Amino acid sequence: MSECLFCNIVARIIPAPLVYEDDLVVAFDDINPQAPTHTLVIPRRHVVSMAALQDSDGELLSRLMVASNKVAKLKGIVGSGYRVVINTGTHGGQSVFHLHIHVLGGRHLAWPPG
Ligand code: AMP
Ligand code: ZN
Repeated sequence: MSECLFCNIVARIIPAPLVYEDDLVVAFDDINPQAPTHTLVIPRRHVVSMAALQDSDGELLSRLMVASNKVAKLKGIVGSGYRVVINTGTHGGQSVFHLHIHVLGGRHLAWPPG
């Protein structure tokens, strides 16, 4: 078992029903949802955070964003609108150090964030 929670979800060692998956990306619902839709979109490959991305990761980042929109379509929130969030590092509020995009929707989301 990996020390990384999300790597263990990708490996199907820790169970999490998948909302979406392809060759590079996996998506599953957040265990502590902050909105009616709250899904996490992650790379299969272990990437610590946005801060760890390299020039060569452009395709991966693009695929993560496209997958996030696919998740929003699957969840039926494209018309009403949604938000994607990538918490990065300590000040960014990141708590799981495997890159993930939060896809949030299904209610009006306030701005600015806390
Ligand atoms: P962040 O704080 O941006 O690093 O987000 C980590 C997210 O992972 C939080 O919203 C947690 O609720 C979520 N989370 C933690 N453990 C699990 C799990 N086993 N399955 C699904 N989501 C999880
Ligand atoms: Zn990982």
